[in-house]
Amino acid sequence: MPKLEIRATGSGNYTTQTILVNLKEVAKALYRSPLYIIKYFAYELSTSIHVKSDLYIIKGVYSQEKFQDLLDGFIKQFVLCRYCENPETELNKTDNDEITQTCCACGKTKRIGIDSHRLVKFILKNWSENDKYTNKYDSITNQIFEDEQINDDDLTSSTIDYEQFISLIQKKNLNDSNSIDELINEAKKLNMIDKLPFDIAKDLFTDDILEEIDTYEMLFHQLCQNNNEGQESLLNGIEVIINRNREKLLNNKRISKIFYKLYDKNIITEETFLNWYEKESKQLIQKQVEIDIYEYAKEFIEWLRTADEELS
Ligand SMILES: [Zn+2]
Repeated sequence: MPKLEIRATGSGNYTTQTILVNLKEVAKALYRSPLYIIKYFAYELSTSIHVKSDLYIIKGVYSQEKFQDLLDGFIKQFVLCRYCENPETELNKTDNDEITQTCCACGKTKRIGIDSHRLVKFILKNWSENDKYTNKYDSITNQIFEDEQINDDDLTSSTIDYEQFISLIQKKNLNDSNSIDELINEAKKLNMIDKLPFDIAKDLFTDDILEEIDTYEMLFHQLCQNNNEGQESLLNGIEVIINRNREKLLNNKRISKIFYKLYDKNIITEETFLNWYEKESKQLIQKQVEIDIYEYAKEFIEWLRTADEELS
């Protein structure tokens, strides 16, 4: 049997799941469905799973040793012959809704009671005739399996892509704190907290940006509070949207208003504005437009600086 390979996914603080890289091969060697093995792990760890095509994902991060221990437990309970310890056994579902295991070497059959492990119920519920034939598990992996018994909403939804996420934002009530929490969780899973302000500005803002800042205020607070990177990414996104709507937005009056609003609503701090102003070109937009934006922003930046001096 190949050694079980695992890989934790995500990065930084968002490492929240483990991919069982070669579960299919391991399962094949044990003549069991990979689905039963990963579900057994989930029961033992009180966590949830997501299975799609050949991808076996378990929520949470655990060590290789932990998985190996669990796999040994599974083998003992659901693979090895009780009488001769031969690992080649065949599962069957009886007419009485029971699971039995018959040894290919000694021929003896043992009953695996429904009370012996929660997995038995799961096997009965998800039984397919293929389970008898030890080499036909490939068919199972072509189905998408979603965990139902354990709450794994967040794990399954983490497979949405960027575009689905952006349309999710558009559907949500952005004045409702539960919706905001949901979006923040989703953004964490997609690992895009810092970049999201940029994307919102770039993909959702129009020349009505002043009103749109009001609409997105709560979400921006969550994304940008104490997060300089998030604030900077919002400013960069705003540069992009100004560039796209030059006729209406590229002027001193409008830029001052936009920046003042972001400052007044505590979305972008003075420190971030000053850093942004002093930073070199990021070359997100054409050079001349960038120069113009900085020129038109000058008045606001000067105001920030003087306001600061007056206070100190
Ligand atoms: Zn046996």
